[in-house]
Amino acid sequence: AARAANHQPLTPLDLLDRTLAVHGARPAVAWRDDLWTWDQFGALIRRMAHWLASQGVGRGDVVSVMLTNRPELLAAHFAVPALGAVLNALNTRLDADETAWILNHAGSRLVICEPATLPQLAAAQVPMHVVPETVDGTQGLNLFRGADAPLDWRAHVGDEWQPIALNYTSGTTGRPKGVVYTHRGACMNALGNVLALGLNTDSRYLWTLPMFHCNGWSHTWAVTAAGGLHVCLDRVDPDLILSEIARHEVTHMSCAPVVLYMMLHAAKAPPPVRVKVATGGAAPTPALLEGMEALGFDLIHLYGLTESYGPATLNDPGRNAPGTIAERAEMLARQGKRHVTASCPRVVDDQGQDVPADGETVGEIVLRGNTLMAGYYRNPEATEAAFAGGMFRTGDLAVIHPDGQIQIRDRAKDVIISGGENLSSLEVENVLHKHPQVLIAAVVAAPHPKWGETPWAFVEVKPGETLDPDGLDTFCRAHLAGFKRPRRYVFGPLPRTATGKIQKFALRDQARAMAAE
Ligand code: ADP
Repeated sequence: AARAANHQPLTPLDLLDRTLAVHGARPAVAWRDDLWTWDQFGALIRRMAHWLASQGVGRGDVVSVMLTNRPELLAAHFAVPALGAVLNALNTRLDADETAWILNHAGSRLVICEPATLPQLAAAQVPMHVVPETVDGTQGLNLFRGADAPLDWRAHVGDEWQPIALNYTSGTTGRPKGVVYTHRGACMNALGNVLALGLNTDSRYLWTLPMFHCNGWSHTWAVTAAGGLHVCLDRVDPDLILSEIARHEVTHMSCAPVVLYMMLHAAKAPPPVRVKVATGGAAPTPALLEGMEALGFDLIHLYGLTESYGPATLNDPGRNAPGTIAERAEMLARQGKRHVTASCPRVVDDQGQDVPADGETVGEIVLRGNTLMAGYYRNPEATEAAFAGGMFRTGDLAVIHPDGQIQIRDRAKDVIISGGENLSSLEVENVLHKHPQVLIAAVVAAPHPKWGETPWAFVEVKPGETLDPDGLDTFCRAHLAGFKRPRRYVFGPLPRTATGKIQKFALRDQARAMAAE
């Protein structure tokens, strides 16, 4: 009984409490020209929580937030869970239809947004709280008119397995799935990140990765746990990124490879201190990794999914890794080995047996452990399928090298990853099929030097009808978020299997060959 009474649930809220108590006077958040201390930022969190409570938010309620990377979004990562409620951070690039669908599916109580995200919320049936565009410093404290009174989160979070966040991901099916994170998983992943990145009170972390992406791979909670500085940035603009790195002497950041391409292109001088960059979400090329290292950035490579709270494997060669810079970059392009607090990833064949570690035999990556989702919200069938065989099936095809490094070779699922954003080929196909002249359409990923992949549409027009790319593009523009619009339309008969299934792999090959021309 004494042991039970002494039990503390694992939660990022406890990590926050410690930072507030120990580092109150230290810098917490840099935003535009202001610097907030942990004391000041703690006040924002408390006021937001008490305001949410006054709106009727309580245990188990879902609170949606559609904001760019600004202090209020970071504060919501603590204020919402402190009430025992669940944070649903929304991708600001989704269109109005998909956003409305998610809010409805999540059963959201209210949504906190900003003027820039109002168009995406045009179809939302949920009460909105709009945070003004330009708010500096402690002015932000007045946006949530709750009291700055203590937060009794322990009264609402008794169990570490309680949900903390709900993150929607576009997978192979048309509609997104709601991935449920727990307090425990978030805490474990945050602590794993502290170790993997080497975060401490002197860390200055630049927010280029959207916090709405898997809660910023848990760095929202990790940097807070370390008592480091969050440098908030609401735009992905390479010049701005580089100037913020110089201004705040940034030590850490994470982003998809596409952001690194932009930085490499724009950089004129090395950063003031070497920056540790965690990159992932899509495969970086050795050339990119080499270029960044030469510029003054030390890279680590992460692989994971929304379902694994972001990072599941990690490739960190360390400062004294042997070999030339080109050889090291070649190695670093592999997805790596297990992440600190995740358990061993495996690469298995159709029977669930481990493939030999020969760097040649391809299998599927499966995961198990402390940092895997509790399940898909209100979707038991998809949850069951994802964990079929007892481990989480990623749908990523990989080899395992003799040294234990995992390397992705292909993807078994029909998802396209463009600039680190996922898009479902099925969703794009559904739109194309609504066009009156389209008989059948298939959308596949084509390699792209900057975005990694872009969607291309292969289209068979109805007999006797005509259709040109411009006409179809206008149609897609009206029905799809910008980044989901096919970048190329190829007309002609589609290759089929004996059973009439479209041979997507053949189209992928064709797209690859055409992209190389
Ligand atoms: P995120 O984009 O945050 O990593 P998503 O759930 O949106 O998470 O996408 C996960 C998918 O992205 C993986 O299943 C895999 O196909 C791909 N992916 C993620 N990281 C890498 C990586 N380092 N290299 C290659 N592919 C990756």
